[in-house]
Amino acid sequence: MANMMLWIMVSLAISIGVSFIVPFPYSLAVVIPIFIGMSYFIRRRQMQRMGMGGQGGGFGSMLGGGGGGVNYICISCGHKFKGGACPRCGSKMKKADF
Ligand SMILES: [Zn+2]
Repeated sequence: MANMMLWIMVSLAISIGVSFIVPFPYSLAVVIPIFIGMSYFIRRRQMQRMGMGGQGGGFGSMLGGGGGGVNYICISCGHKFKGGACPRCGSKMKKADF
């Protein structure tokens, strides 16, 4: 969510910057594709992060960097593992490690 806000801020900053360089009607022609591209990029990233954890076949392992999947770090004990829950403490509180 914070990441999405960041991208909105970035695209906003770009659009402001463009409108300084390019006069108004033409600046829209530059800014709108940037916005569409940004939202497409954000959606793709979110799909990768959420959907690919459990069910991701080839697509998920492609992202994992050769390890055959995304690594996770347990928030409770700091153990690094793969899959659903921490094998050391059984906690499902985890964050992805890329
Ligand atoms: Zn743990």
